[in-house]
Amino acid sequence: MRYRDTRNAETNVSFETAVMQGMDPQTGGLYIPETITRLPSSFLNRNPVPSFRDIAFEVAKQFVGDEIPDDELMAIIVDCYPFTAPITPIDPTTYVLELYHGPTCAFKDFGARFMARVMAYFNRKESNPLHILVATSGDTGSAVGSAFYGVPGIDVTILYPDGKISPLQEKQLSTFDGNVRSLRVNGTFDDCQKLVKTAFTDSTLRNRFRLSSANSINIARLLPQSFYYIYGSLLIRDRCHFDSKIDCAQIIAVVPSGNFGNLTSGLMARQMGAPIEGFVAATNSNRTVPDWLNNGEYRPRPSVETLSNAMDVGAPSNFERMSAFYSLEESRKIMAGYWLDDAGTKDAIRSCHDRTGYIIDPHGAIGWAAWDSIRSGAMEQLLDGSKNPEGMPGLLGTKKTAPVWAKNCVGKSCVGMILETAHPAKFGETVRESIGREPSMPERLERVLSLPDRSQPMSSDYAEFRSWLEKNL
Ligand SMILES: *Cc1c(COP(=O)(O)O)cnc(C)c1O
Repeated sequence: MRYRDTRNAETNVSFETAVMQGMDPQTGGLYIPETITRLPSSFLNRNPVPSFRDIAFEVAKQFVGDEIPDDELMAIIVDCYPFTAPITPIDPTTYVLELYHGPTCAFKDFGARFMARVMAYFNRKESNPLHILVATSGDTGSAVGSAFYGVPGIDVTILYPDGKISPLQEKQLSTFDGNVRSLRVNGTFDDCQKLVKTAFTDSTLRNRFRLSSANSINIARLLPQSFYYIYGSLLIRDRCHFDSKIDCAQIIAVVPSGNFGNLTSGLMARQMGAPIEGFVAATNSNRTVPDWLNNGEYRPRPSVETLSNAMDVGAPSNFERMSAFYSLEESRKIMAGYWLDDAGTKDAIRSCHDRTGYIIDPHGAIGWAAWDSIRSGAMEQLLDGSKNPEGMPGLLGTKKTAPVWAKNCVGKSCVGMILETAHPAKFGETVRESIGREPSMPERLERVLSLPDRSQPMSSDYAEFRSWLEKNL
């Protein structure tokens, strides 16, 4: 498979180059596959549904081509995914696709683990180690640290703003040993990012050390996220007739979004034949994309802080990829935009728990609220022309912008697949404020709480960071 760049259709690079470069150094554009091919019908219609591992292999094969031999690719997948993405039906027309069964309890494990092992594979012939530098405002650092932990030939340095991330997040970042280290920077997330960016442009440093980033724009993080859309939607198609008593229900994927990497992966899965009729782009108050779907204007803006903080993004980096796949008009046919404020998020955690018994995290809760409003008539209102009042949370749009599947939801022939992107125990306090108790901690989160903190202090001054790198890399 060859990859092109979102800003220059003439670019044509291998999978290895796309992964190891991260982004096109000439244009600053993002890599996307040149073609996306539908999986064979015999595979998609297999009964019983193919395993998560079989789907991962079949899809990865398409994007890796012959750059990694089959047996090695399967070994990478086996090593990446000792966990899967189970679906949990919480009422007759709602399924939760649980993406938090990985080591750091968030969906980013799916992408980060694959990227780490693929980079290690391409790095295997090198005699010098590859040093990953990553700045984080919370979740990304732990997913990347955990993904590379123990991976040979690569080490990771995580920079995070001291005192500005949650105590649990800090434990998840700072307790690694071996090839993953963390620096608590006396400054903000922007200071952390600046230190990393300055290091990447420091040619003296780059001449001495092989440096790389592991950020969310890497195509190797995006591709594996399509595995669970295919797996989840095939499982739902297989059973929803029994649960919902609807024949041939259409599946709507509801995606709590920030940088829109997860949703972009969903669009790719759909092109590969995942039985997903449409998507809901569900955001918190950072509603750049729902606004774009609604009024046609793309207006990135500074982010605002919310309870679903992993989605606090005002200028989503994967918008560039989404719009390379689909125009505004095409996007509107597939996607609806929804947004919710913090008060609504807490109400959603409560209503999901009261009505289904399921404890959902603040990110997934926005998905639940979006789905619940759609199946109880919000789409009907769009089609009737009774618009959502200006500036109010909810489903955005008009009759003109409503997706092609809108009328089917009115006829109640849809089921929802809500992507639950994190374990609710990562946001215990918000959950307690909503339902009166904290969710129980999974063992792997409980364990990090008792590990010693190994982070080292760092100032926001580049000279100091640089001399640390020179001593420690
Ligand atoms: C990163 C993250 C998101 C947002 O995902 P994008 O791919 O950036 O849209 C949502 N929920 C959680 C818990 C996350 O960690």
